[in-house]
Amino acid sequence: MNFSRTRIAPTPSGFLHLGNVFSFAVTAALAERTGAKVLLRIDDLDQQRVTPEYIRDIFDTLHFLGIPWQEGPANAEDFSQHYSQLRRMPLYENALEQLRNSGQVFACACSRSQLASAKPCNCNNIPLDEPGVSWRLRTDHSISLTVQTLSGKPIQTTLPLSMKEFVVRKKDGFPAYQLSSVTDDDHFHTDLIVRGQDLWDSTLAQLYLARLLPGSSFPKNIFFHHTLLTDDPGRKLSKSAGDTSIRYLRREGREPGDIYALIASRMGLPAAGNYRELAAPVIEHALSGM
Ligand SMILES: [Zn+2]
Repeated sequence: MNFSRTRIAPTPSGFLHLGNVFSFAVTAALAERTGAKVLLRIDDLDQQRVTPEYIRDIFDTLHFLGIPWQEGPANAEDFSQHYSQLRRMPLYENALEQLRNSGQVFACACSRSQLASAKPCNCNNIPLDEPGVSWRLRTDHSISLTVQTLSGKPIQTTLPLSMKEFVVRKKDGFPAYQLSSVTDDDHFHTDLIVRGQDLWDSTLAQLYLARLLPGSSFPKNIFFHHTLLTDDPGRKLSKSAGDTSIRYLRREGREPGDIYALIASRMGLPAAGNYRELAAPVIEHALSGM
């Protein structure tokens, strides 16, 4: 199996933690196995939460842990000058225009908490150009979506109800994550996407979106959704869990090998001292199609 390009796509809204490193390790090792280049894509559209310190932490952590990337920004300055998502706003606006032309978007004035509750939205006939409205998709949950997987067996499914009428443009006029992520993957020509299982529903939302974006190659991507590193059983590591941030562990004197060993132990994987060793059993398992 051969690929051209995959990506690691952290959001600089907290310090990178053990769970991020596991995902990056699997991505980098799988890229090496399949001839793909790794693009570092830093998702900084959520300007309210992004800080320069978190952006620097991404570079510091990747260097410290020896996780390589071949494309994208070399450092924080290069990032802000050439690779910030703010510089790709015309691409996102073009995609939003395509969605508007599809006739599938509607304007919604519901608050964030109204959106979070499962109650149906009754917003009707609000002009799309009205200030302060979000744009949502009219979703059809009977349309078949195909996820191409690493094991070679495609998965056929439909858009889950968790993604009912999902937001594509936020109230501030910025594209929502699902839209910017698909647009970026098309723009950078990825053909392999590695992400945690927590993003499964997002993958389906993105495949659904890509159908409405003429010329999108997103559905051709091969996906690998890896298991998540959890703290307590069943609880996803949060960015606020300071004691799992790499920055904290470094300050405690941990070396890269200690961090890989810690992740391996938490994941129930064989002992590992670098990203390749950590990822090897995960990749074998994925390629075997189990
Ligand atoms: Zn609404």
